Amino acid sequence: MTTESARRGVMLVLSSPSGAGKTTLSREILKREANLRLSISVTTRAPRVGEIDGKDYHFRSVDEFHALRDSGGLLEWAEVHGNFYGTPQADVMERLAVGGDVLFDIDWQGARQLAAKAPADTVRVFILPPSAAALEQRLTARQQDGRDVIERRLAGAAVEIERWGEYDYVIVNERIETSLLQLTAILTAERQRTSRLPALSGLVGQMLADLAARRRD
Ligand code: 5GP
Repeated sequence: MTTESARRGVMLVLSSPSGAGKTTLSREILKREANLRLSISVTTRAPRVGEIDGKDYHFRSVDEFHALRDSGGLLEWAEVHGNFYGTPQADVMERLAVGGDVLFDIDWQGARQLAAKAPADTVRVFILPPSAAALEQRLTARQQDGRDVIERRLAGAAVEIERWGEYDYVIVNERIETSLLQLTAILTAERQRTSRLPALSGLVGQMLADLAARRRD
């Protein structure tokens, strides 16, 4: 038995205002951590250029979203910048039970719901931009949104940032390489949490029995 096969998975939740670099950070850690999978959210927002249905999001109509939510198909949901977003229930819990880690890119409302629903599984990380100016610059530079959308996101940023104290960890994303190291360290440490390794009791039991047998010999 290895500790990897014996442990419970980590629900790694990342939140930040749009433009703090959370998407890049998610993409990079997913590339490096084979056991970590992204939870693909359902949203009613329109796809941005280059976004693919089923890869970036499951893009759905408001009626479809409500039907899914009302049938209990979402682990959490929230309205963000006038659109609905939610985390599909489908196989998250099954994946955790077999030691698979799941990454959630969700807002503070969703992070709060997941932490209330699965407190022992959830690890919340807040990504802060280094400054307000850096945030605006990143939002403007990505050229995916109109000026009105950028203004709305900047206003929303303050609401999101105010929640940083609710999180278990915080990363100030100045350099992506440093942030990635910090995020990987968090995931690595959380995997070894005693509460995620209940199956080690079998290994420890055997070890103690072996030690007792050696003492008798
Ligand atoms: P965007 O429209 O820029 O992709 O996402 C806007 C915000 O919605 C981001 O802060 C993102 O983390 C959040 N978000 C994306 N998916 C979900 C979800 O399933 N649930 C919640 N609560 N927030 C989400």
